[in-house]
Amino acid sequence: MSSLPKCPECSSEYTYEDGINYVCPECAHEWPQAAEEAGEAEKVFKDANGNVLQDGDSVTVIKDLKVKGSSLVVKVGTKVKNIRLIDGDHDIDCKIDGIGAMKLKSEFVRKA
Ligand SMILES: [Zn+2]
Repeated sequence: MSSLPKCPECSSEYTYEDGINYVCPECAHEWPQAAEEAGEAEKVFKDANGNVLQDGDSVTVIKDLKVKGSSLVVKVGTKVKNIRLIDGDHDIDCKIDGIGAMKLKSEFVRKA
């Protein structure tokens, strides 16, 4: 068994795991186990060439991308300004002229 962390609220040692949370039976505090990993490096977002992307960057789409739930296609070469990086399968949140808000995968763009 791995050792459990002490309760951050009352320092009790009698914590236990409950699903994705830790629970303290003494003060009833619950906190996510993921907090344990808070010290890890932040996720790095990279484009198709391995360049690091940041919020506010402009990128170019390198592949025709169908827009989910519509017949629209984001054409290869489309410039996307002011991207916002998010967590998820599609890790770029952006607005594209003529299409609107949508999400892209960083592997399908190149830093402009
Ligand atoms: Zn506690």
